[in-house]
Amino acid sequence: MSPSATYDTRRDQMFPTLSPDDIARIRRFGEAAAFEAGARIVRAGDIAPGLIVIVSGKVEISQDGGGDRHETIVVHGPGSFAGELAQLSERPSLVTAAAIEPVDAFIIPSRRLRDLMVQEATLGERVMRALILRRVGLLESAGSGPIIIGHQNDGDVLRLQGFLTRSGHPHRVLDAETDSCARCLVERFHVDPHHLPIVLCPNGKLLLNPGERELARCIGLVKPIDGSKLYDVAIIGAGPAGLAAAVYAASEGLSVIVLDCRAFGGQAGASARIENYLGFPTGISGLALMARAYTQAQKFGVEMVIPNEAEHLGLAAGDGGQQFRLRTGTDETVHARAVIVASGARYRRLDVANLAQFEGSSVHYWASPIEAKLCTGQEVALVGAGNSAGQAAVYLASQVKTVWLLVRGVDLEASMSRYLIERIEAQRNIKVLPETTVTGLDGQGESLESIRWRNRQGEEGTCPIRHLFLFIRADPYTDWLTGSDIALDGKGFIRTGATAGQERHPLETSRSGVFAIGDVRSGSVKRVSAAVGEGAQVVAALHACLAGRGRQPSVPQSMRMT
Ligand SMILES: Cc1cc2nc3c(=O)[nH]c(=O)nc-3n(C[C@H](O)[C@H](O)[C@H](O)COP(=O)(O)OP(=O)(O)OC[C@H]3O[C@@H](n4cnc5c(N)ncnc54)[C@H](O)[C@@H]3O)c2cc1C
Repeated sequence: MSPSATYDTRRDQMFPTLSPDDIARIRRFGEAAAFEAGARIVRAGDIAPGLIVIVSGKVEISQDGGGDRHETIVVHGPGSFAGELAQLSERPSLVTAAAIEPVDAFIIPSRRLRDLMVQEATLGERVMRALILRRVGLLESAGSGPIIIGHQNDGDVLRLQGFLTRSGHPHRVLDAETDSCARCLVERFHVDPHHLPIVLCPNGKLLLNPGERELARCIGLVKPIDGSKLYDVAIIGAGPAGLAAAVYAASEGLSVIVLDCRAFGGQAGASARIENYLGFPTGISGLALMARAYTQAQKFGVEMVIPNEAEHLGLAAGDGGQQFRLRTGTDETVHARAVIVASGARYRRLDVANLAQFEGSSVHYWASPIEAKLCTGQEVALVGAGNSAGQAAVYLASQVKTVWLLVRGVDLEASMSRYLIERIEAQRNIKVLPETTVTGLDGQGESLESIRWRNRQGEEGTCPIRHLFLFIRADPYTDWLTGSDIALDGKGFIRTGATAGQERHPLETSRSGVFAIGDVRSGSVKRVSAAVGEGAQVVAALHACLAGRGRQPSVPQSMRMT
């Protein structure tokens, strides 16, 4: 287990002791339970019954540090509670809890835990802070969750590691060549080294180079969709726009389901540091900001289906046009009274014939610590001239030898914020190459060895580069709406308001009951704050729409739009 700074510095907040008064107040949310000494209350990989509040006795919380190791994280005594963020949404436990003395307790199941957070705000805040910090501790100590075993820098290892990191899920990566524990596991499970990477899940299942969906299902991140349930609203996309809409809608009593085909956070989750979001004077990493929003949405009972893709939007048969039917990538169905499309945008791929060959391990659309570690001390090339490219260049410059920033235009002025341009100018190891485009990529297998480029004078050159980052203008994620009768503009963004039809709400599409917010919307401002603002704004329109579809309003009139 790696050391966790949070365990050392914030132990009191992580493991608070509730007073007898506090316990009396929250008792109504739980059911009494008793465990004999030695009883295993929950095992890592199993769904925990809920938050376990200990009235008397002691409960040991431990994680399996890989192999046969057993590491005690904490021993809870009377007034303490066992639980972690997973308990907020009935996900499998990341740790094992066992009674080491006879225990009297009460158990607050997930649904009631969410009620506690809302009805007992001050106590709820203490509990929530503890759950979040415990997750941070598990992430830092890297001693729980699935174990990825593979070869260092392998494209599939990076893909799986990237997915779990973006999902805020603790995990470990063991190098099959250098780590003795990894070699032991490969032998124990008789894995042919050609079949690496493998993932050993906490429930004991072994996956051979799984897709993200298969992995998510195995570790309980995603559950099957209840096709018989009618949600008030289905939100497509868990970027800032979708998460904001989810938080506002669920906090106002609507039943909400959110789908995202990758991980929560969207493009904002890729930002190394967001410095222009209101209220964060020192900036905040995009992943940290989005992880807070994701947890907040779950606190209000939002159902997350991540990763899973919306593939088609249509009307449910025989409902008089009052219900929508979404078909997902797993062939499941979501029924909802209204739909919010917040599917954002994705970076354009470079128009180079053999790009796909290097996309696994040498061409990146993300500049997180995982990619930065891969490139430490090396020269890298980055294509793009927007704020996202600027941020990535500045972040990478702190870890790599040189960042070659290839810009199609004459300079950065037209597309990048002044503060980023100044930072790039001040950074000696960022070299800006204006009016330069990549013309070819060369390498062996998945490994890039050099890039070819051309500038406006027609000069051509080759540069030994092993890692290429692409932050080129984003295209809207709207292909999946083909055949759904939603009007798009000439570039594929969704029309809303007056441009979509008569008497449309500003965020409503050409189809009544379907809204579009954030970067996917034609004419939107491509900023986190704008996406969040539209997420809040759309909920008012949603109430009016649902009232017209027979859904009883659950919020005061003052909060609704008429
Ligand atoms: C590296 C980077 C740095 C940035 N830095 C800043 C900054 O500092 N300040 C700032 O204001 N803005 C910044 N931006 C821009 C900002 O992140 C975006 O404007 C914002 O994320 C848009 O939010 P969104 O929710 O509309 O869309 P997105 O963030 O694009 O999220 C859309 C989500 O929808 C999902 N999705 C797409 N199609 C489907 C489907 N069919 N089914 C299910 N899910 C789907 C995607 O996986 C994605 O998670 C940055 C962008 C990047 C890439």
